Amino acid sequence: RQQLYRELRHEPAVTKDGVPIELLMNAGLAVDLPQLAQSGAAGIGLFRTELQFMVALTFPRVEAQERLYREVLDAADGKPVTFRTIDIGGDKVLPYFKSAQHEENPALGWRAIRLTLDRPALLRTQIRALLKAAGGRELKVMLPMVTLVDEIRQARAIIDREVRHLSRFAYLLPTSLKLGAMIEVPALLWQLDELMQAVDFVSVGSNDLFQFVTATDRGNTIVADRFDPLCVPFLRLLRQIVQAGQAGHTPVTLCGELAGRPISAMALLGVGFRSISMAAASIGPVKAMLRELPLQELTELMDRLLANHAAKHDIRAELTQFAARH
Ligand code: PEP
Ligand code: MG
Repeated sequence: RQQLYRELRHEPAVTKDGVPIELLMNAGLAVDLPQLAQSGAAGIGLFRTELQFMVALTFPRVEAQERLYREVLDAADGKPVTFRTIDIGGDKVLPYFKSAQHEENPALGWRAIRLTLDRPALLRTQIRALLKAAGGRELKVMLPMVTLVDEIRQARAIIDREVRHLSRFAYLLPTSLKLGAMIEVPALLWQLDELMQAVDFVSVGSNDLFQFVTATDRGNTIVADRFDPLCVPFLRLLRQIVQAGQAGHTPVTLCGELAGRPISAMALLGVGFRSISMAAASIGPVKAMLRELPLQELTELMDRLLANHAAKHDIRAELTQFAARH
């Protein structure tokens, strides 16, 4: 199989009935970069910038951040890269930075964009490093754990200020700057129209979204496997996000662990995703799956399974059978 996946590297990611699918990889450190070429990914859909912060002994200086981002963009060699602003807090703690108060529920606490809006110097420094590293190239920046669309406006104001600052000093700026948000907090689901207008793209963080939608701690092994993401409520919700993206002409992707397992990836295509981002090692297996996939037929099956009267179906079993048939 490894041999098969390697051979598929240069083959297009197109379903059996001819629908192109964008397969992106997740990364976070310079050591991940060779996998971009090895996996045949179309780009980096999620670059977890907080990893550089987590392996450091103190906050990485702006120069160190810029160096890493430049290295990433050089390695990508024109393929798209989405940099997520630091997602620290929650399960991602920095030994050298603690919140002043003990947090009983860190997953619901001072993390990600909440933290960077409260400590704008952190975000400003990171944005400056990204803008400089991407001078003369395209830059995509994504905000984690957004709860209210207004948080995007606040972050955009900080970004715009940095852009003005650098242009005053005649730095070479990115040729384009696209700003996106992760859909991880359920409150965003009731702001989808406004969200799609406020950003250039969205990416579903299905690990956190599933955790919050089902009120199930993603790291708690007693309950982590209790609910299957391939269930009616979660798949309906994902389909709704895709439809909101289509209505708002806003590109939608998904970058949680779901994207990396062939049956789950199949379910994602079945509810309308045409772009997904996963661990590099999953690109081969997922590509092998989709090249055999009659997507139209799957979409019809999915619509039936998600219809009102069908809530009792075992979706995973149905999809596994569908995969076996094809
Ligand atoms: C997610 O929540 O699905 C995600 C991609 O972000 P992380 O796993 O880094 O929280
Ligand atoms: Mg997340």
